[in-house]
Amino acid sequence: MNNYGFCVECGKVKENKLISHCDECNSRYREIFYEIRLYLMQHPTATAMDIANNTNIKVEQVMQFIKDGMIHIKA
Ligand SMILES: [Zn+2]
Repeated sequence: MNNYGFCVECGKVKENKLISHCDECNSRYREIFYEIRLYLMQHPTATAMDIANNTNIKVEQVMQFIKDGMIHIKA
């Protein structure tokens, strides 16, 4: 049984099948997550669109975090 899979972000082969990103994308994913979380601490009623408009994060990426259950806000 092989434990390899493909990164959902860049499509590269990754060693850990349990996570959806390779190491490189995973660290970027975490950075973006912290940035969103920081923004939400300052703006608790923000929507995905507000976050995208006020940070360098794309709305698709914000939506991905919502889908992954990492953040809980209105779309
Ligand atoms: Zn990747």
